[in-house]
This record gives sequence, structure tokens and C-alpha cells, in this order.
Amino acid sequence: MNKAIKYRLYPTKEQAEYFLKCFGCCRFVYNQALNWRIMAYNADRTCLNYNDTAYGLVALKRIYPWLKEADSIALQQSLRHLDTAFSNFFKVKGAGFPKFKSRKHNRRSYTTINQKGTVAVSEDKYIKLPKAGKVKARIHRSPESGWNIKSTTISMDSDGKFYASVLYEYESITIPVAISNNVIGLDYKSNGLYMDSNGNSHTGHKYYRAGQAKFAKAQRKLKNKAIGSSNYKKQQLKISKIHKHISNQRLDDLHKTSTKIANQYDVVCVESLNMKAMSNKSFGNGKATMDNGYGMFLNMLEYKLNNRGKYFVKVDKWYPSSQTCCECGRIHKLSLNDRIYRCECGLTMDRDLNAAINIRNEGLNLLYEQYQKVG
Ligand SMILES: [Zn+2]
Repeated sequence: MNKAIKYRLYPTKEQAEYFLKCFGCCRFVYNQALNWRIMAYNADRTCLNYNDTAYGLVALKRIYPWLKEADSIALQQSLRHLDTAFSNFFKVKGAGFPKFKSRKHNRRSYTTINQKGTVAVSEDKYIKLPKAGKVKARIHRSPESGWNIKSTTISMDSDGKFYASVLYEYESITIPVAISNNVIGLDYKSNGLYMDSNGNSHTGHKYYRAGQAKFAKAQRKLKNKAIGSSNYKKQQLKISKIHKHISNQRLDDLHKTSTKIANQYDVVCVESLNMKAMSNKSFGNGKATMDNGYGMFLNMLEYKLNNRGKYFVKVDKWYPSSQTCCECGRIHKLSLNDRIYRCECGLTMDRDLNAAINIRNEGLNLLYEQYQKVG
């Protein structure tokens, strides 16, 4: 598990100048490498990888000796970031082609890796960094025992304040192997679609959408009939038949899906949604009753897992599963239109997948707490 803690830094004038130098050098190296990658691809469709650009960096340092004044690990990290940006571009839908960084539009930051104590957080109110030495800091939270520093990102905000976001790594909670092996988190939507924490999505059923269209059409037809007439009654009957048919298909799908999950996994973590709020929101449109399969789905999962002696864990509905970064724990406010979750720790991921992973992790934490109380 990882956890990031952001500390305010109070660098001396020299240290601040050094930070600015590192920001600039990292941006320079990033842009150079992006240019190499584009040129190589345009020339003969060659895709450069991280190692290729790392060789390039060695040459670059010979041409521009001032690069040697910056944190060399940070320069390599900016090449890593570029590499991640490229793999995201290919893997994550909607991630976009990597862009050149500008001083104006990009956050000024650089990341350095802790190599056997090159980065350290001291309770004596400083953070040790490569080349900068001890930088005065407000240590509002000390690392707990067993937390190891993985990396830190130094940044400057628009007001000129400096921060160090320290990424700690710690052993994830040890849950008995028997139950920790086969865990899944589900980010379930009221319309029957879900994403699981392994990145598999249940895309729902085509017939359901087809049935919906049929249902809507039949309802529109009803409006043209005189209320109480025999045609009206006939149409009403037709609507209730379609409705029944859709409900049956839906129920069938919920049963099949929940059985499959209960057979496959030992621990299933879900989010307990606020059913009342959900039904209020969709009240008044024809889908309301049909779309409320979520509660049913949870009930099915619960008894099917219980029957098999497995675990069903409900994560509190207030837990910010969509807003939390599943990699470092930072919180970002996402708007409903944001399909991709992006975090400054480097994570770029489908929003639902990030949520599903968080639900799984939080569910495991809860299960572990329970386990400790009992046993
Ligand atoms: Zn993150």
C-alpha cells in the first residue's frame, strides 16, 4: 500500500533556486525526449522506449552541462513520466497524446526516488533531499513505523510556496491468505453495468436496451388513446406485458451475474448505495422501477456468498471511492463527465476501475478490522 503526505517546505534562497533549476531541467528533458519519440516515429515508425531516451539523456548532458546541476534521478523520472504518458495513450481510452510541457501551463514539479536514505523526513522539522540537503519543513504528520519513503515530488504553487509530497510505502495489512487470495471490488451502476477491480466490465444486455425502446414506444402510443376505451385497456395490457418481460430478463441477468461472481470469488466488496436517494432521483421516469435492480443484486450476492461460506463486504456509501487515487490515496474532485482519473502520482486510469479498486481495498480493510475483533 502507498500513502502520500504533502509537507510545506521553507527552503533557503539557494535551495529555492535549486528547486527552480530542477523544475526547468526536468521540463527540458521531458520535452526533448518527447521530441525524439515523435521524430523517430515520423522517420520510420520507430517507437522509442524508456531506455532509448535514457541513452539520449546521457548525450544531452554532454551537450548541456548545466543539466548536471539538477537532481539526476529527477531527470530520469521525467523520462519515466513520459513513458507512462505514452503507455497511457495506448492503453487508456481518452488519455490523449502526450503534450509538451510549458512553464506557463504546467505545474512546476520534479520527482526523485529515495535510494537508501537519500530522501528522509525528520521530526526535527526538515526533509532531506538529494543535492538540496536539509530543507526546513512543517512536519504535521510523521511517518508511522514500517512506512518507507518511496519517492517525493517537490512542487511550487502559483503563490511561490514550495511543497514536498512524500510517497510512503508500507506492507499491506496481512489478511489470512485463505481469504485474501480471491478478492474483488465492484463499482456497480444502477443500470446494471459494473466495472470490477480487475478491469472487467459487465456491459449489460442488449435486449434490455431494446426492451426499453419498445417499452417507451408502447407508452407513447398509450397517450394517443382515449382513456378508458377498449384500445386504451389493450395498450395498457401490452405495456404491462413488455414491462414484465423486461423485468424477467433483468432478474435472470442479475441471477446469472451474481452466481458467477459468487462462484468465482471468496470476498466480494461493494458499495452500499443510498437506495432512497437513487429512487428519488429517478422517480417519475419509467425506468425507475426497472433500474432499481441494485438492491436486488446486492441481496443475491449476499446470500449466495453466505451459502458458500464466503465473504460479502459492504463499503459505506460515504467512502469517496470515485475521488480517491487508488495508488497514493490523494483525493481529487471529479466531475461526472471525467471518465479518466488522473493523479499527480502518475496514475491515469479509467474512473470506474479506480473506484472498483478502492472499493476492494476499503472492503479488505473493513474485513480485516472485523477479523481482528473476532479473532
Ligand atoms: Zn495518486
